[in-house]
Order: sequence, then C-alpha cells, then structure tokens
Amino acid sequence: MDRTTYLVVGAGVSGLAFANFISNDDYIILERDSEIGGYCKTIHQDGFVWDYSGHFFHFRHKDLEQYLVDRMPNDEIKVVEKCSQILYKDRLVEFPFQKNIHQLPQDEFIECLYDLYFLDKTSTPTNFKEMVYSRFGAGIAEKFLVPYNEKLYACDLSELDVNAMGRFFPYADLDAIVKNFRQADNSSYNSTFTYPSGGAISYVNALASEVKEGGIALNEGLVSIDLKRKVATTTQREIAFEYLISSAPFDKLLDMTALPYPDDAFRYNKVLVFNLGFDKKGWEGKHWVYFPERKYPFYRVGFYDNIFDTERMSLYVEIGYPSGAEVPVEEKLEQTLAGLKEAGVITDHQLVSSHNIVLDPAYVHITQESNNLVEDLRGVLSTRGVYSIGRYGGWTYCAIEDNMIEARSLARQLNQINALPDS
Ligand SMILES: Cc1cc2nc3c(=O)[nH]c(=O)nc-3n(C[C@H](O)[C@H](O)[C@H](O)COP(=O)(O)OP(=O)(O)OC[C@H]3O[C@@H](n4cnc5c(N)ncnc54)[C@H](O)[C@@H]3O)c2cc1C
Repeated sequence: MDRTTYLVVGAGVSGLAFANFISNDDYIILERDSEIGGYCKTIHQDGFVWDYSGHFFHFRHKDLEQYLVDRMPNDEIKVVEKCSQILYKDRLVEFPFQKNIHQLPQDEFIECLYDLYFLDKTSTPTNFKEMVYSRFGAGIAEKFLVPYNEKLYACDLSELDVNAMGRFFPYADLDAIVKNFRQADNSSYNSTFTYPSGGAISYVNALASEVKEGGIALNEGLVSIDLKRKVATTTQREIAFEYLISSAPFDKLLDMTALPYPDDAFRYNKVLVFNLGFDKKGWEGKHWVYFPERKYPFYRVGFYDNIFDTERMSLYVEIGYPSGAEVPVEEKLEQTLAGLKEAGVITDHQLVSSHNIVLDPAYVHITQESNNLVEDLRGVLSTRGVYSIGRYGGWTYCAIEDNMIEARSLARQLNQINALPDS
C-alpha cells in the first residue's frame, strides 16, 4: 500500500494552493480529471479565450495576488473598471437594480420607491425570498431580485438561507438608493476586476508551478475512505494517509466516507455555459448583462471581447438548471441564439466558434440545515485527519481568492502542528 502524509483530493485552486503552502512535501494530489484547474480551466479555441464561465478576480489579499503574479511571467494582467447592466424590458439599467430604480420608466420607478419607503420594518425574514421583500419592497423584489435569482438558482428562493449570498449580495438602504439618483455610486466588491491575458487558468498554472514534480496524479479519482484505518481507495490503488484534504463536493465526500446525513440536505443547481465566438463586434463597453425576464433562457451574458479589447464578439452565456434536470444542449443553443437576437445582442452576426460545459454543481443552495451539517460533520471528519475545503468542499458561495486563503490557513495550521516538539 502507498503512504503519504497529505493526500489532497482535487487539483483545482484549493488543492493546488494547499500544496503550495504546506511545508512538508510528502503529498499526493489526486485529480480524477485529465487536466488540472477544476472550474478555473480556460479554453483557447479559434482565436477566442474562454473560461468555464466568466471568471473575474478581485483580490482583497494583495500579498496573495502578488504571489500569483510573480509566477505568471507571460501574462499581462488587465485591470478593468466594471460595466455591468440589466436588460429590463427594453432598456438597459445599471447594476445593481435596487440602486438604479430611477432609470426605470416613471410609473415603475414610483412603484419601487413607494414600496421601498413604506417597508414593513417589523418583520424578521426567515429565508432569502422574505429577505429581498423585507429589505427592498415588492417593486424591486418582483421586477428584478426574485426573477433573476430564480433563474440563477433554479429553485424557489424561500428554500435558501437569508444570507445565502453572503458578501456577494449588493445590499443598499433607502439613503444609499436615494443618493444614487443624483450621484452614481454603484461600487461593489468587484467594481474593479483583474483578468490575466491567458484566462483564469493562468492563476492555476501559477500555483501548479510550485507543486513538486510528479506531485499530481491525473486521471485518478478518490473512491472511498476508511476513516478508522485512514486509508483511501482510489480508482487505481490504496493509499494510507495522515491527513486527507478534500476539495470534492461535501456531499460526495460524505458518501465516500459512508458518514450518514439527511436526504435532500445538500441541494444545488447546475449551470450550462455556452461560450460563443462571432465574426464581428457587438455591444461595446459592457462586461456583463443580467437578464431577469423569463422569455430569455439565460440569466447572464458576458462579453470577453470588451475585456480583451478584441475585434470579434466573444460571449459567455449562463443558464441555470435544477440539479436533477436534463440539459438539452442543442435545443438550448438554438433558444440562446434566438434570445440573443431578440435582446439585440446579435443582429446579422455569424457564429464562428462555440463551446459548452455544464458546471455541476454550480451554486449550492445554502440553508441553515446545510450550514449546521457542514460545521458538525467537518468537526467529525477532522478527528480522523480529514479536512473538507473549497467552494464545494465547504458547501458555500465564494471566490477563488477565498479558496486560496482557506487552503493557505489550513496548511499553516498543519505546519504548526507538525512543528510541535514530540512530548
Ligand atoms: C458560474 C460560476 C462563476 C464563477 N465566477 C467566479 C469569478 O468570477 N471569480 C472567482 O474568483 N470565482 C468564481 N467562481 C468560483 C470559482 O470557480 C471557485 O471558487 C473555484 O473554482 C473553486 O475551486 P476549488 O478548487 O475549491 O473547486 P473545483 O474547481 O471544483 O476543484 C475541485 C477539483 O476536485 C476534483 N475532484 C472532485 N472529486 C474528486 C474525486 N473524487 N477524486 C479526485 N478528484 C476529484 C475535480 O475534478 C476538480 O478538479 C465561479 C463559479 C461558478 C460556478
């Protein structure tokens, strides 16, 4: 049987970042796919550069960003002032919707403002849907926040926790909204974002450059874990481990350990992404546009060509599905092209290149129950040296920076434990 101190599951940003910051290089990174990167892969096709979905970056830890940039000698890092808008009926409204209701037709503006002003401040929301009604009123909720998020999450929003989107939700109070009528301040966590010329995979490659030679076992998946013996079975062998650091989805990790959990506790959506390359330029200046209306199958469309400043329109298009739904790709592509035409994104454009991918899972459905279970069961797993990290390992809503920070702190914690003198 093979042995290792650290068995890392997944060569996405979480697994690779852990390997970067663990000081003992007795590790094996298992990756069931044939390539590294997880959801941060990039496709280079027919002169277009596409990620698995729009992946843009906004680092709060400048030291971490510098660490990556130092390992990306061939990339130019673009720094972009975000322009994101909403196609509301036939007009483009600045994002976030709640701060730009003054851009709506007058009757709808008054409706939103009236509902916002006369909010029922006595109620305490118990779920995400109640939260948007109680913080913004029915006008804003029903014109944008509810339909848009229903398309994205592909579920009834009352199933989600009040705080399901954490710091990624653009909160705004009445004062901020009214001030915005006169002086636009649509700043958000990603008002300025960065993007490497080689795509998101460049950050992954930066992390991979610090992984020891032969440290990644591609095409080798973890199948089961014997928690008592601390032995993992992979698609190819058995490996005894001291610590196992997994970035696989949390429910799948539990299945591999045979730890029980309630049915239906871990719900999520999946997202079909079309990357589409056209023969000529389209809308200028916009980086992404939100589509709350049901008549469009997609909820968001992004414009890589306006980030890279290139001549041909290069889009990513995102469509949300419930986890168990069929994804009829060909049919959806036709509907997507029809929707893009109706919205005026394409006119007589010719599609010259396309790619699609289903992100499954994409957005986990955060609930009080899932939060409590993750906390409790992570505690149980850690008693056997098993740590579940990452966006799906932590069953959370986060960005790649959060994944790297979490992996780095776990590595530092284990470095300290292993540096303790023997008693
Ligand atoms: C639609 C969408 C848009 C996003 N946009 C952004 C953005 O703009 N900016 C941003 O910072 N973040 C964004 N993110 C989040 C970002 O993609 C994730 O935070 C990040 O990729 C998660 O990395 P990870 O390593 O934790 O997980 P993953 O990327 O999922 O990597 C896990 C790896 O584990 C492997 N694996 C799973 N099970 C096994 C097994 N049993 N055995 C072996 N290997 C296994 C998988 O193949 C995979 O390679 C977005 C996510 C989505 C879904």
